[in-house]
Amino acid sequence: MLATLRRLVNEVNAARDLNQALEIIVRRVKQEMTADVCSVYLLDPASDHYVLMASDGLNPAAVGRVRFPRGEGLVSLVGETEEPINLDNAPDHPRYRYIAETGEARYHAFLGVPIIHHRQVMGILVVRQHSQRLFAEDEVSFLLTVASQLAGAIAHAEASGGIQLPGDGSIMRRPLEGLPGAPGVGIGTAVVVYPPATLEAVPDRHATDVEAEVAAFEQALAAARGEIEELARRLDSALSPEDRALFHAYQLMLGSRSLRDKVVERIRAGSWAAAALRDTIQAHARVFEEMDDAYLSERADDIRDLGRRVLMHLQSGAVRKMDYPRHTVLVGEAISVTMLSEVPLERLAGMVSATGSISSHVAILARALGIPAVVGADDLPVSRIDGRELVVDGYQGRVYVSPTESVRKEYQRLAREEQELAAGLEALRDEPAVTPDGIRVPLYANTGLLSDITPSLTRGAEGVGLYRTEFPFMIRNRFPGEEEQRRIYRQVLESFAPAPVVLRTLDIGGDKVLPYFPIDEDNPFLGWRGIRITLDHPEIFVVQLRAILRASAGLDNLRLLLPMVSHVGEVDEALRLLRRVHGELTDKGEAVTLPPVGIMVEVPSTVYQMDDLAPRVDFFSIGTNDLTQYLLAVDRNNPRVASLYDALHPAVLRAVAQVVAGAQRHGKPVGVCGEMAGDPAAAILLLGMGVASLSTAAASLARIKWVIRNFSVAEARDLLDQALLMEDSRTIRRFLEERLDRAGLGGLVRAGK
Ligand code: PEP
Ligand code: MG
Repeated sequence: MLATLRRLVNEVNAARDLNQALEIIVRRVKQEMTADVCSVYLLDPASDHYVLMASDGLNPAAVGRVRFPRGEGLVSLVGETEEPINLDNAPDHPRYRYIAETGEARYHAFLGVPIIHHRQVMGILVVRQHSQRLFAEDEVSFLLTVASQLAGAIAHAEASGGIQLPGDGSIMRRPLEGLPGAPGVGIGTAVVVYPPATLEAVPDRHATDVEAEVAAFEQALAAARGEIEELARRLDSALSPEDRALFHAYQLMLGSRSLRDKVVERIRAGSWAAAALRDTIQAHARVFEEMDDAYLSERADDIRDLGRRVLMHLQSGAVRKMDYPRHTVLVGEAISVTMLSEVPLERLAGMVSATGSISSHVAILARALGIPAVVGADDLPVSRIDGRELVVDGYQGRVYVSPTESVRKEYQRLAREEQELAAGLEALRDEPAVTPDGIRVPLYANTGLLSDITPSLTRGAEGVGLYRTEFPFMIRNRFPGEEEQRRIYRQVLESFAPAPVVLRTLDIGGDKVLPYFPIDEDNPFLGWRGIRITLDHPEIFVVQLRAILRASAGLDNLRLLLPMVSHVGEVDEALRLLRRVHGELTDKGEAVTLPPVGIMVEVPSTVYQMDDLAPRVDFFSIGTNDLTQYLLAVDRNNPRVASLYDALHPAVLRAVAQVVAGAQRHGKPVGVCGEMAGDPAAAILLLGMGVASLSTAAASLARIKWVIRNFSVAEARDLLDQALLMEDSRTIRRFLEERLDRAGLGGLVRAGK
């Protein structure tokens, strides 16, 4: 059976389009099960009918015409129960409906199984037989297995612009689901980008003229380096020095002697340049890939990406200049930072990548540039959508391919509202973040890798609430030295002084692994992360602490934040090292002061130890991204469980409220720096809890300021009390969005989450 299935899946995958795939399925399944009929019905979401899409055995004229509304017929009963229905004599069943045009009166035995993808019933696969008999257990499991294999292919076809129904010409459509990579609505033309040259396709060939091959390779390498330099230059004004460091890392990779020397060595051993490059790049990439870690495998992709660039120059001597339409939605299997950077910013309306997570670099770049993005859209039919119109809903992580008029209109309205709101919010930038009942709730910005430290983007923020120091570590190919770090931190501290800047000590591990410091673990989010690593490596931690203290000399706006604390001992040890570093620096005559120290509340254990932790530190910052992930046991990067991840879950709300109350008992300020602080609905509840400050991504600053200026703490408290009585996040979100609507922050918020 396995061999049959494998053959069937291969045939289906090779099919030209869905109709052909369905025909293969009905033919093969009928043959394999020696049935008299095999048919596929698909659910048309627009009309809510199951439509006969392909059949081997029924009257061909019935295809596209026979439709069962939900609640009628055996086919839709399979959809309702989401289980196989196996009957020896279908006409006896009360839900049986006779359809004259199929010619099905002659069939008695009926077996129908649901085709389910991501929890949704997409259709029904049915086999029929003349005789009166029940299908055997192994036949049922065979059909179920075929249906489960079919589900992905159908989702692909639907997402690529719907399925044309043979009968009435209408089209089935369902949006493509992914992860919300960057907020906003983007409408435009899909431009599918793919790696410019395929290394895997390079054939083995002997070098006829070794010196000419070496020269060609050197030339291609130089051209690729020049191209990256040009890209970095073009983006100069949009990117901060931190961003440029990323391009610098690419240049370093291309400039590394080991890469160049290995290729030349292979050429000298007799290979032509292209294959020598292919083998060298693949060997480099494999080293990273075999480490089986999300971050490192992304680096392997970078290496391949760079290798392809060199190959392209080797092949043609010039880069193909893309012609980007005015509203380009960049689409690809795995969009890289360089692919995104290549599109002129003024033409970029959105981005959709089949792979990637919310915390991948390309999503971070999209957020920093304000480009609506959907990532992890694993059903993306990349090869079939170039040139189609797309709607990218970066709030919900949805993509509509060739949208219907009504979908397009709805999103155009949202985009317009968004523009109006942005214009209205712009006016708030210089207004204070004060509630109508006079409570000041300072609003800070989260920064790190990208251009978000530029003052224009963080206008309206009263400082930096979270500077993720791991980002400068992630885009280099070695640990940054003390002086290098000092300069980076100094720049951030200086650009905001005298406003406060919260520098968080290195938080690597989990999904943030350094290419030069590999960590291979089965459960990285429960493993060696954040302060656990830095305490185990005082030589890294002490250098960072020294760089931070020295960077702050004379500025007095530094706050230090410790990530991933789960035990009080970790705080004690970190404070001991901090005091030691401070003592050593002052002994040397450096004018450094001890900054206020806080901890991230992001591991559930800290929620219950507020009384033990509070006397040790000066402030708390709630990291709701990790707190939600750990409380709900939902990997924050896993698209399969993304629908379960919500900071408005009552358990998360109760935990956050408990932390705020705990900190207040000890008179210690507590803020929120996770994404929850940037969600207008959640922000109301945080106001009600009495948080001292909020820190959000630059893109959310204005919206959250609007919330602060429109909801009194008294009203927020009342809404919080009501929300805490509700038992699931959906109800809570609906309740809050209705309030936001009434207050005037309408459509945008409805589109959110
Ligand atoms: C958090 O966990 O909420 C947080 C702010 O930290 P990070 O997203 O960097 O893990
Ligand atoms: Mg965290």
